[in-house]
Amino acid sequence: MLEIKNLHARIADTGVEIIRGLNLTVKAGEVAAIMGPNGSGKSTLSYILAGREDYEVTEGDVLYNGESVLEMDPAERAAAGIFLAFQYPLEIPGVATMEFLKVALNAQRKARGEEPLKVPELLKRVKEAAGSLDIEMGMLKRPLNVGFSGGEKKRAEILQMKLLQPKLCVLDETDSGLDIDALKIVAEGVNALRSPDRAMVVITHYQRLLEYIVPDTVHVLYRGQVVRSGDKTLASELEANGYAAIVEEAA
Ligand code: ADP
Ligand code: MG
Ligand code: MG
Repeated sequence: MLEIKNLHARIADTGVEIIRGLNLTVKAGEVAAIMGPNGSGKSTLSYILAGREDYEVTEGDVLYNGESVLEMDPAERAAAGIFLAFQYPLEIPGVATMEFLKVALNAQRKARGEEPLKVPELLKRVKEAAGSLDIEMGMLKRPLNVGFSGGEKKRAEILQMKLLQPKLCVLDETDSGLDIDALKIVAEGVNALRSPDRAMVVITHYQRLLEYIVPDTVHVLYRGQVVRSGDKTLASELEANGYAAIVEEAA
């Protein structure tokens, strides 16, 4: 479903190369964890998958179901079923969360040639999804992410994901800022979306999240490359030994 081949990318402004020959394959039905020390390029990778303009791909390719996404703008990628939950979700002042959800859902429906959702159906879907994530309806009246706590922001991201039912989900440090109860709720939300026709890329700095979202594969990112891949036991190994050994090996 996702095939990243020898990807090189730099910051458009400064020309500093951050992603340096990254290879990664994620199959449909798979949950792939990406781990790695701070500053290794995990968030940069998620921005590039989302299609943010601040980064320039200089070499390699990103294939989604066999087709390159590099020429697609962020809206086209979303319409194709790619979803990103960011480490630092954007605040959107002036747009109530509920309104944002409606616009996002209806944009997706439009791209598929479907009619916009009727308000009662929209409310029903949002209520159901919000309830399962312990989100109060009052939160949905507030502007998206503005003044939300860290935990509320992450739940709002998973809420969008539940409603949009994307095919490729990328979650960037969805665990940061969550207490253990919120972490479990978020993990349950993610686990409920696991399916044979969906792939998930879970980016995390710590192993804790992976006790609740058990990955099929684990990849270690270091200096813009995947330097080691394995199964879920690699995450426990990293928790026990830290990144030092892998970093030395890579160097
Ligand atoms: P991670 O998510 O793994 O902690 P990031 O992708 O956030 O790492 O960052 C990778 C490296 O790129 C870091 O050294 C960071 O300082 C640098 N970096 C990322 N974005 C920018 C930017 N816009 N300008 C300058 N440096 C950046
Ligand atoms: Mg970081
Ligand atoms: Mg990051």
